Amino acid sequence: MKVTVFGTGYVGLVTGTCLADVGHDVLCVDVDQKKVDNLKNGIIPIFEPGLEPIVKQAVQNGLLNFTTNMDEAVDHGELQFIAVGTPSGEDGSADLQYVVAVAKTIGQRMNGYKAVVNKSTVPIGTAEKVSEALLGELNARGVDVPFDVVSNPEFLKEGAAINDFMKPDRIVVGTNSERAEKLLRELYAPFNRSHDRMIFMDVRSAELTKYAANAMLATKISFINEMANLAEKLGADIEQVRNGIGADPRIGYQFIYPGCGYGGSCFPKDVKAIINIAKNVDYQASLMEAVDRVNHIQKSKLYTYVTKHFGGNLKGKTFALWGLAFKPNTDDMREAPSRVLIEALWAAGAKVQAYDPVAMDETQHIYGLREDLKLVGTKEAALEKADALIICTEWKTFRAPNFELIKSTLLNPVVFDGRNLYEPERMLEYGFDYYAVGRGKSV
Ligand code: NAD
Repeated sequence: MKVTVFGTGYVGLVTGTCLADVGHDVLCVDVDQKKVDNLKNGIIPIFEPGLEPIVKQAVQNGLLNFTTNMDEAVDHGELQFIAVGTPSGEDGSADLQYVVAVAKTIGQRMNGYKAVVNKSTVPIGTAEKVSEALLGELNARGVDVPFDVVSNPEFLKEGAAINDFMKPDRIVVGTNSERAEKLLRELYAPFNRSHDRMIFMDVRSAELTKYAANAMLATKISFINEMANLAEKLGADIEQVRNGIGADPRIGYQFIYPGCGYGGSCFPKDVKAIINIAKNVDYQASLMEAVDRVNHIQKSKLYTYVTKHFGGNLKGKTFALWGLAFKPNTDDMREAPSRVLIEALWAAGAKVQAYDPVAMDETQHIYGLREDLKLVGTKEAALEKADALIICTEWKTFRAPNFELIKSTLLNPVVFDGRNLYEPERMLEYGFDYYAVGRGKSV
């Protein structure tokens, strides 16, 4: 099938690539000329495990192409996917300008039936806005061309995006059109073989399903973080508590890891958006407000430990930082807890010496060259002449380090662990002052 995908970010590029991998003829379009030029030359703009070889193979097979040409883009696919960003506006609402711009682009050029499929995470009612934008453009041209607007929220996880797309838990499609349903069934058939994973529903429910899923996951994280903060004050160990509650299948072990807060391009923005969506229909989303508040506090947690430990004076100190990305296996730095920490350390007059397996280019891109930020090539190099080690991301390479080396390299044997990677007792035996989240040291 011929498919056009607007947006070549984490969602658009993965969607286009996976669809091309199973044989669909995909044209990916972006307004970012440099991104498109790079993609045409086989340079992938993001780090996503397993993505590069599939892109290259699909390009070689002639099934994946890239363009900035909107005429070509609209002409290509009967299915037109929207996978552009929906960042937070100032009031927390999702900014729909990019989604609406794509709808207008399509409306200005379409000459035959199109199924416009929205993969971006958008507020409930956006499909209606997309329809209005399309109709507005068609009316302005004085043409009458049929179309459907479908909601097909994306549930992939950065870092595991290829597997999530290829073997989805579910494919949610919101539509009331039989024609669109048939097209989407055919499109997704290669990913839907062992059992039917396609869940059809009305458009508004599909739009809300995406927010409900992310809101639930963010709630789990803020819940365990709140319990961790309590554990800290009550002299309990949250890791033992986690073990104890996860055994109940109604709770489960997934997504209840305490830490220094959730980040990324989705949870923070989607929780804020659902609060705003609720406000617009005169409902106060109290639970979501609390989830957001707890996360805000949690992101300052590491800094609180650090200042307390050093008696409030961080001026002139250097901190080794392990992990910059908001989670392992991605280079995404959007809303990463490391950024809150780094910026607080700088404000207090400290320097940062950081290592991340893949997110250092992105960090450099965000902060530019500065005296108080040194990005180094190995985790060991980050320790040199540093006053303490701080861990922000649970990359595998940080899980079983050489503790003797850490101790002998750091100026002080102090570790602030925002991901609870080590055993407090063992760290004590090694001679470290060890801070982890909800594991005994109250601040
Ligand atoms: P992104 O910022 O990585 O990519 C968006 C791309 O869209 C950019 O390359 C941008 O240049 C391009 N773009 C903007 N306007 C355009 C236009 N008019 N025409 C063509 N391209 C245009 O965003 P992302 O992380 O891929 O997220 C996209 C959407 O998917 C968001 O709504 C997000 O909430 C949702 N989502 C993201 C994830 C994730 O893990 N990143 C998962 C599920 C859903």
